[in-house]
Amino acid sequence: MSTILADGTIDDDATEIQLFEASGAGTAVSDSSIFQSSFLVATTQDLPTNADDDIAAVEPSGSTVADDASGDRTHRATIDGGIRIHYQAAGSSRTLSYQLPVCNRNPEARRVVEIRARIFIDPTTGLPTASPSYIQAQLDKANLAWAPACIKFQLTGGTATIIPASVTPTIMTPTGPQNFLADGGNYGGQGDRMALINAFSPGARRDVFELFVVPNIATANAVTYGPFDDFPNLGLNTFMVMRSNLSPIARTLAHELGHGLGNTPDTHLRKHIFYPQRPWKNTDPTNFGYITDDRPIDNYRRISDMTIMQSRTERTVTPTPPRTALGNYALKNP
Ligand SMILES: [Zn+2]
Repeated sequence: MSTILADGTIDDDATEIQLFEASGAGTAVSDSSIFQSSFLVATTQDLPTNADDDIAAVEPSGSTVADDASGDRTHRATIDGGIRIHYQAAGSSRTLSYQLPVCNRNPEARRVVEIRARIFIDPTTGLPTASPSYIQAQLDKANLAWAPACIKFQLTGGTATIIPASVTPTIMTPTGPQNFLADGGNYGGQGDRMALINAFSPGARRDVFELFVVPNIATANAVTYGPFDDFPNLGLNTFMVMRSNLSPIARTLAHELGHGLGNTPDTHLRKHIFYPQRPWKNTDPTNFGYITDDRPIDNYRRISDMTIMQSRTERTVTPTPPRTALGNYALKNP
């Protein structure tokens, strides 16, 4: 069994998987013609510092199988790729081949979400707050993170754009020049937040997530405003504001996209869930008190089935659902 990329070339190396004959339904016949393997796991493409696929498969006996060894049951895959199986019965010289997509194509299971990313100029330095490559790194991480939901993200126009200094609205006022939300307080304030919404809502679309990069945020790494918030002038649009200079291993944009897709708030959950995790502080001394680091395989990497279901929920246009209804308008077929 191997995995293949969208163009049909090999993605992850073929490894031999043993099949076991299963009993027929409700019987113990030994010639049931039903065969099954131990479970197979599709992982995302390798993370920059930790290859997901390097996880050793564990046998029911407790023994482990090294990556690419016979019996390795973890293979990396992309949502546009597939699984290729060559089957050879014992004693037979004939090989049968099968191919399956990772995400169903009939009906199409994949979804694409468009993000319009814009970068503010820091009024203190006169320079952009971040480079487009910073956004791309966050986006690449988000695409790894959301692959299990068969959702991928793409930037409007293919890249982030710089907001001209002349367009900088009052969120960069002298009292809080480098610090979004510093004007008018934090989440309860009306200053920076409403200035941003009022300035950019006229051109916003509810089926595109609007992402803004700012020098700093007073109370968070990032914050998402959506229908759930019921803010004047925001309507059914979704705005995300993110700091510059965040490490991709914190999956910050991937987390915010969970807010945008599900229209749901944070909660405290297990360590391995990156959304809707509200990070615990001072529980893990190895990460400066925060656990937002996806390098360990049991930390901040996964989303739950419930999150996948909520994030793949499409809000209806007519009738307009309650502001707090689950789901989004951004899901499109590829
Ligand atoms: Zn959050």
